[in-house]
Amino acid sequence: MTSKKIMRNTSLRHFPLIINGKEITHGSQDLVAPATGEVFATVAVATVKDVQDAVKAAVIAQKSWVALSPAERSNALLKFADALEQHSEQLANLESENAGKPIKLAKYSDIPVAIDNIRYFAGVLRRIEGVGAGSYMGGYSSMIERVPVGVVAAITPWNYPFMMAAWKLGPALAAGNAVVIKPAPNTPTTTIEMARIAISAGLPAGLINVLTGGAEVGEAMVTHKNVRMVTFTGSTRTGRRIGELAGLGTKRVTLELGGKAPFIVFDDADLEAAVQGAVAGAFINAGQDCTQAARIYVQQKSFDTFLKRFKAVTSTIRMGKLGSESTDMGPLTSQVHREKVHGMVLAAKKQKIKIELGGELPKGAGFYYPPTILVNAPQNSSVVQEEIFGPVVVVNSFKDEAEAIELANDTIYGLAASVWTLNIQRAFRVSSALEFGTVWVNDHLPLTSEMPTGGMKDSGVGKDLSHYALEEYTIPKHVMFDTSGDARKGWHFTIFGDQ
Ligand code: NAD
Repeated sequence: MTSKKIMRNTSLRHFPLIINGKEITHGSQDLVAPATGEVFATVAVATVKDVQDAVKAAVIAQKSWVALSPAERSNALLKFADALEQHSEQLANLESENAGKPIKLAKYSDIPVAIDNIRYFAGVLRRIEGVGAGSYMGGYSSMIERVPVGVVAAITPWNYPFMMAAWKLGPALAAGNAVVIKPAPNTPTTTIEMARIAISAGLPAGLINVLTGGAEVGEAMVTHKNVRMVTFTGSTRTGRRIGELAGLGTKRVTLELGGKAPFIVFDDADLEAAVQGAVAGAFINAGQDCTQAARIYVQQKSFDTFLKRFKAVTSTIRMGKLGSESTDMGPLTSQVHREKVHGMVLAAKKQKIKIELGGELPKGAGFYYPPTILVNAPQNSSVVQEEIFGPVVVVNSFKDEAEAIELANDTIYGLAASVWTLNIQRAFRVSSALEFGTVWVNDHLPLTSEMPTGGMKDSGVGKDLSHYALEEYTIPKHVMFDTSGDARKGWHFTIFGDQ
């Protein structure tokens, strides 16, 4: 496999870093549109000095932000969400071009869902409260305050750049923190636009700072002494490194990492619903989704019928121009990533794993890869055990409920899973036996702002979305009052008494 030469357009937009409300334009890195393979814009390149400046600005901004009342912070975030909505068409187009998404996905899902996340956190911040206030010792009263952590470093991946930024900014800002965020090097544009819109909507300078670059800038953020929390979404490998660095600095950390979701179809399922769910679950965002239905397990009796229909519906997926509403699936994010995905398919072929559909590198521009179905791959093969992160899915069979649970849980990951059955007792039994942070019953993929997402096992630590995420970004602080007014009373006097 050889890397193709990247083409360059003539007049390019240049995206800046955002530090303390100012646009910093130094350095230039090309940004390639995955659908064409051509450079469509350039972005400024952050330095370690920029990390220091951004954190300094965030420290100052956080002090005035937390001094606002919850109502004031909530109103400011609602204005921010409204401003994002006013720009939603522009944001959807940019996300589509930069991240290689069909316009339908960007316009009807990623952008509106992200804006809803911000609105949700703007609302829920008004009921941040501590539980357990009361009198727990004679002559004393206690209260719990939930205080912000301070400055949060957020590091996000390339697959859902705008949505991942919203998942971090929403709860972090709602809780009274300031943020320095670094999107993935190849997909920074909508995060930068988001910060620009925040400033135009009146959020204080320094509250959201955006840096670009890769590991060097990321590590400088994670290890900065004034960063008190790191929130990361990305691969398990990078997550471990970040966890290690954050641990050395005694920082709070949340890690939303990889997945290899099982999709379990029992003989008693609505088979057509399962097929439709599997097509969406497997090929959403060209399979570049941490909750992708990557391992489809079908009970033996239904296996042939399911596979035939799954193949037929998958064959109708339309790849094409991102701006067309008739396009269902876009390209992969980069040439390098496509080579990785194709390499895993070729390795499976070498191991005599049957390729039921796809598996061929398409000709033409861009980093497109066809929907690919592999069948009966051994449970210990890399296509069953490792994240492929492309439109490649394995369909295997199982004998009974016990085997389905065993195969599904046989993974280092624990992010998401689904079970398809019309038997309510089985649905309860299997969903509770699955070791995953989210389990869907008779569906796969939907998330809501009110419910948490996050992994077990090597899929990570902590939660995004919901009030559980808000808790990650606050510290329960115990304030204890002596209510007796008696200098010679209190528990210490029983120990140091008799003077
Ligand atoms: P990645 O780990 O390569 O990069 C993620 C981010 O980390 C990027 O911004 C990158 O520049 C930065 N980074 C890389 N090395 C770093 C270091 N040493 N220190 C600090 N920052 C560093 O991941 P990716 O390839 O961009 O994203 C795909 C991965 O993200 C997949 O594994 C996917 O499952 C995962 N993901 C998880 C969720 C979730 O909610 N659990 C959501 C989306 C994506």
